[in-house]
Amino acid sequence: MKVLKFGGTSVGSPERIEQLLPIIKSQTADKHLVVLSAVSGTTNDLVTLSELYSKKENNAARKHIDFLYNKYRIFTHELFKTPEGKSEAHTFIDQIFELLYSFENTDFTTREERIVLAQGEIISTTLFHLHLKEKGISSILLSALDFMLIDHENEPDIDYIREYSNKELEKYPHENMFITQGFICKNAQGETDNLRRGGSDYTASLLGAALQVEEIQIWTDIDGFHNNDPRYVPNTKPIAHLNFDEAAELSYFGAKILHPQSVFPARKFNVPVRLLDTMNLKASGTLISGETTNQNQIVAIAAKDGITAIRIQSSRMLMAYGFLRQVFEVFERYKTPIDMITTSEVAVSLTIDQTEYLPEIIEELESFGMVETDNDQSIICIVGDFKKNNHGHATIVSEAVKHIPIRMISYGGSENNISLLVPSSYKIEALRSLHNRLF
Ligand code: ADP
Ligand code: ASP
Ligand code: MG
Repeated sequence: MKVLKFGGTSVGSPERIEQLLPIIKSQTADKHLVVLSAVSGTTNDLVTLSELYSKKENNAARKHIDFLYNKYRIFTHELFKTPEGKSEAHTFIDQIFELLYSFENTDFTTREERIVLAQGEIISTTLFHLHLKEKGISSILLSALDFMLIDHENEPDIDYIREYSNKELEKYPHENMFITQGFICKNAQGETDNLRRGGSDYTASLLGAALQVEEIQIWTDIDGFHNNDPRYVPNTKPIAHLNFDEAAELSYFGAKILHPQSVFPARKFNVPVRLLDTMNLKASGTLISGETTNQNQIVAIAAKDGITAIRIQSSRMLMAYGFLRQVFEVFERYKTPIDMITTSEVAVSLTIDQTEYLPEIIEELESFGMVETDNDQSIICIVGDFKKNNHGHATIVSEAVKHIPIRMISYGGSENNISLLVPSSYKIEALRSLHNRLF
């Protein structure tokens, strides 16, 4: 079996949806599990709708749904060719929109919001399933809510996912095409929830890992993982091969092509991931696997925004032990992950991207010494082979950013990463300058 995940643009129009079947048919696996995102733009529209409902702006909410409903009426009208196909699709769309309109009279909490956000993937998968049906192709539409589960810590429960996805698949031993929703899941309270924005990649990786498939394919709108962010840097190039660690670092540190956590399950269960381009079927894309091929090179650069740096300056740190433990415990109490850290004898700087509990964290840290914060920072992550015998790379990196104010530098934490923290206003310049110097 292979898992094939298609992103928002790959299901973004009736023409694109018609392209999916030939792509799936060109695969060699005996069975295919197709994971779909919502049609591009839909999740954003549903986020806007939820904001309107939360603010009780019901008129504006209704107008927003009218606009979306109209869009899907046109979409289905174009995608379906037969009167029966059109009618079945319209009945389904009407049902979904009835649900969206119905929240006008409810107390709209985050619980309702998560139900609204789930509709994008429910729509795209059902339309694809009906499209195949219209073409006389058999497929089974599985509800991701029957097997995708996150626990109290919002962590996916892979054992549950394995057991229950297998149970669903085993119901149809002779079927070879399965379709399910990316992004959506149930949480520990049994409510509809999701794997955060861009989460369909994570669904694909979790299912691929749980089911031990031969390959997880992520079909998107670009010809592979590029060596820098193509949205900000000209002349970026696709990378033929990344190992799991390189891909995990790059996506965790901002490469939008993959959800930040999506490499972890594939890495843990050693399932290769292939990134492919739905608009360019000839492109070979990027293979992510356990093998290392990029020796003694700098592989790629990525950037992650929305970072806050915190410096704690304390004379108590001098010659003391146990100080860092106390600092880390503050972050642990507030369930706030730390990304980068640098220390001197009398101060420690670290970065976080979740600022929900920042005031409480600062208040506790102030009991150790002086605390300063800088927000609107970006981590620039340079991934490559930086084993200790490969000297010289750090010099090239620092030379490339010599005109940029650097708040922190982290080198040596792992053998494949150099990270820099810069004010976000300098991010694009840093990415471009590094690109010109390194590639
Ligand atoms: P999908 O909707 O298929 O999930 P995304 O928009 O989430 O697609 O991801 C693909 C986009 O990621 C590309 O169009 C590109 O603009 C952006 N991107 C950012 N960094 C990279 C990178 N290093 N390599 C390739 N694409 C990247
Ligand atoms: N539809 C969701 C989003 O836009 C999930 C995804 O596309 O991966 O974030
Ligand atoms: Mg995506």
